[in-house]
Amino acid sequence: MLWSGWGDPARAAELPEPVRRLLGDLLGVRAPDTPAAALDEVRLPGTALPAPVVAELEEAVGAGHVRRDHETRVRHTRGKSTPDLLRIRAGDGSDAPDAVVLPGSHDEVLAVLRICAAHRVAVVPFGGGTSVVGGLAADRRGFAGVVALDVSRLNRLVSVDAESMVAELEPGLRAPQAERLLAGHGFTLGHFPQSFEYATLGGFAAARSSGQASAGYGRFDDMVVGMTVATPRGTLELGRAPKSAAGPDLRQVILGSEGAFGVITSLRLRVRRAPAERLYEGWRFPSFAQGTAALRRLAQDGPVPTVLRLSDETETMVGLARPDELGGLAAGAGCLAVTGYEGEPGEARARRDAAAEMLAGLGGTCLGPDPGESWARGRYSAPYLRDSLLGAGATVETLETAGFWSALPGLYDAVRLSLQGSLGSPLVMCHVSHVYGTGASLYFTVVTAQSADPLGQWEAAKKAVNEAIVAAGGTISHHHGVGRDHRDAYAAEIGELGVEILRGIKDRLDPDGVLNPGALVAPAPD
Ligand SMILES: Cc1cc2nc3c(=O)[nH]c(=O)nc-3n(C[C@H](O)[C@H](O)[C@H](O)COP(=O)(O)OP(=O)(O)OC[C@H]3O[C@@H](n4cnc5c(N)ncnc54)[C@H](O)[C@@H]3O)c2cc1C
Repeated sequence: MLWSGWGDPARAAELPEPVRRLLGDLLGVRAPDTPAAALDEVRLPGTALPAPVVAELEEAVGAGHVRRDHETRVRHTRGKSTPDLLRIRAGDGSDAPDAVVLPGSHDEVLAVLRICAAHRVAVVPFGGGTSVVGGLAADRRGFAGVVALDVSRLNRLVSVDAESMVAELEPGLRAPQAERLLAGHGFTLGHFPQSFEYATLGGFAAARSSGQASAGYGRFDDMVVGMTVATPRGTLELGRAPKSAAGPDLRQVILGSEGAFGVITSLRLRVRRAPAERLYEGWRFPSFAQGTAALRRLAQDGPVPTVLRLSDETETMVGLARPDELGGLAAGAGCLAVTGYEGEPGEARARRDAAAEMLAGLGGTCLGPDPGESWARGRYSAPYLRDSLLGAGATVETLETAGFWSALPGLYDAVRLSLQGSLGSPLVMCHVSHVYGTGASLYFTVVTAQSADPLGQWEAAKKAVNEAIVAAGGTISHHHGVGRDHRDAYAAEIGELGVEILRGIKDRLDPDGVLNPGALVAPAPD
């Protein structure tokens, strides 16, 4: 992973000429004065960790698994949101951990937590490092130091119960590794977020991730049937049956807890048979409203495709709906929907045919397999473009929310108006990214010319849009999580009593407050 941006450096995307022109002409984007810093120019704080603590950690996990070199610390500094990238590109490594610790087993994780709690050292669980909500930058105040607890050595497929279709996997597995291991048994998770190449299973569970095929395979939290969690107070074993009436479901307390309550060291996940056939195609709708109504009907009355998404007019025109063909369709092209069907050959085809009949009856025009296959080919490419856009002087960031169908038009307008109010005339694109019987998620991409202070410019816009989402009745996040960036809006969403409950849980599991301080829930005021 590129330390200052996204993905495999060999796949860095050149900005297509039409996009560069569009940026200059439409948004007034001009190249920034200062180039991005080189790795050795990133300024890190001196390591604050006392030598006896380092010695204890080395004793617990092995000397080679406690790293304090410049590059490892930079690579564990924050996540991959646009503000994170703007900071690191400017050479600001002030949130770097003092050390990166790589435990190799559940017991080693417990030992690390014990040592850190005893010495008041903050611990940030670190999976793939792809958080986009400030989930990986610990608040250092009051701590003797900060360590990143990197779970990448916990990377085994532990067992497959083919009869129950449940696999036990360790949290440090990146999604492609997990899929390869499961494919050996004829299974898939079916979890394909845009961060697929780098994000880990533990991160998916901790941040309640949702993949692009969620209509068919469900969200990641739907897949978790059990887990093992290491906390400073000991081990939690959760989930012994597919469903249970034995009180509140404590799995739900850990899902979405973003490393603030414990470290997930093992996951029991529901798996599906690997599909024998995949069919993707494109549909055009005259307007976003009409397309959204069609998606709602499919989500409510079926048949439900495995992939179902709809770009608004702007996203369709710019071409982000098919990132490997960026440059766009002609204006007035309406809205592009992508549908995908995965399953057994006969079953996938039958579902496609029934859904196609419904979509045609709801005003859609079938564009054939091309747009769908092009989307599938380019589905992981868009993040590579962000680095080129940042380098060219544009700020590009994404944000997402979800709401009930009846609230969706208001939510769509509120987000766009808020971004326009804060940023002047940005390019705001949107797609319906995940659908349910009762509502859907809206995913926005914003592009604007960088001001002299791009961080301050985005922070002001983000604060305003968070408030607009809450006021319009949406959730502050459908799948990115809370971290620090959404903490206040999340508190507004759940109210004071809700925040007290979270603090109570944290106090019980993590009495010294060392786990990812500042993420998810603010400490109680003194
Ligand atoms: C380009 C890009 C595209 C993205 N696309 C999507 C998308 O399509 N869908 C989606 O849902 N998200 C997406 N994301 C967001 C991100 O990938 C997800 O939030 C993902 O779940 C994070 O996984 P990770 O392994 O990188 O976790 P990290 O970023 O390392 O950690 C995320 C949070 O979980 C905690 N954590 C990590 N591992 C553990 C563990 N084992 N135990 C306890 N806590 C842990 C961390 O402390 C942190 O608070 C995208 C991000 C980027 C940069």
